[in-house]
Amino acid sequence: MGKKANILLIYTGGTIGMVKDYSSGALRAFNFKKLVSNIPELSQLACKIESISFKTPIDSSNMNPSHWASIAEIIEKHYDRYDGFVVLQGSDTMSYSSSALSFMLENLTKPVIFTGSQLPIGDLRTDAKENLITSIQIAALQENNQAVIQEVCLYFEYKLYRANRTTKINAEHFQAFTSINFPALAESGVHLKINRNSLRKNLKHNKFIVHKIMDTNVAIFKLFPGFNRALLRGVLGIPNLKALVLETYGAGNAPTDDWLISDLKEAIGKGLHIVNVTQCSGGSVMMGRYSTSEKLKKLQLINGGDITTEAAITKLMYLLGSGVSHKSFRTIFETSLRGELTQN
Ligand code: ASP
Repeated sequence: MGKKANILLIYTGGTIGMVKDYSSGALRAFNFKKLVSNIPELSQLACKIESISFKTPIDSSNMNPSHWASIAEIIEKHYDRYDGFVVLQGSDTMSYSSSALSFMLENLTKPVIFTGSQLPIGDLRTDAKENLITSIQIAALQENNQAVIQEVCLYFEYKLYRANRTTKINAEHFQAFTSINFPALAESGVHLKINRNSLRKNLKHNKFIVHKIMDTNVAIFKLFPGFNRALLRGVLGIPNLKALVLETYGAGNAPTDDWLISDLKEAIGKGLHIVNVTQCSGGSVMMGRYSTSEKLKKLQLINGGDITTEAAITKLMYLLGSGVSHKSFRTIFETSLRGELTQN
């Protein structure tokens, strides 16, 4: 038998570590140490678990890039001492955080598994225990002295996903996430089935690099029938805006009104990066397929392909924060850096 894996739990907040305040009925965060004592099963796992907690655990709606940087910093500081990391956070913005971390952690050769739950850990019908225990087991998986999972993932309700392919789709069901454009990396049933063909493998000799600067001069504009010019201009005119995710219809389509095309053209001319991302949960942008995307193609909008909005916006923050040149921005965005898009 190999050595016991060392796992670091990073608790940031969220339902998983909450209790009910019975006087008000509201959920509030409790001391993280109680989370471990609430799950005695953890001591049965064949790994050594240590934990670290945000000083003030937060609801994930309050998360921002400075919290992502804190998570990245904790992982960087403890990278050599641990074999895997499990990040506990609320599910509401988990796809954003975990997508962001996938870009911030370059050449990762160890697992970073995000998880949380829909019901508090103390609840009788909680999903927290399974999510936490299996996440730890996955983070501890080793083969030939190497981690089986070498990327940032999200584990929820029996499925392990590549984090930057996920979206939260349900506020009620235990199955809160989906990854329509990329298969699950593992499924937990009676056995833990790993989908080996879909895993990322990083070369050990490539240096692990942590990027902490995320540029937030970005925006998302979702098209809807009837959006008017003033609204678009309001967004395009945001001072210091550097990049925009344009959520288009279907395979990357938009109205063909001249004012829309000329406003986008002017903004691109001034240096704004605009990424075409579909509002559909599945499928891909194919500019030029319909006449309603031909003009966007001519404008040379960046093609988001099958990227999620969560991955697109965090990739923009990362690329802008890394000082990628204007000239190579489009090519780099359209390149899969962490498996976040399907490259044809
Ligand atoms: N509102 C909570 C949060 O995102 C929901 C959850 O924990 O899943 O922090």
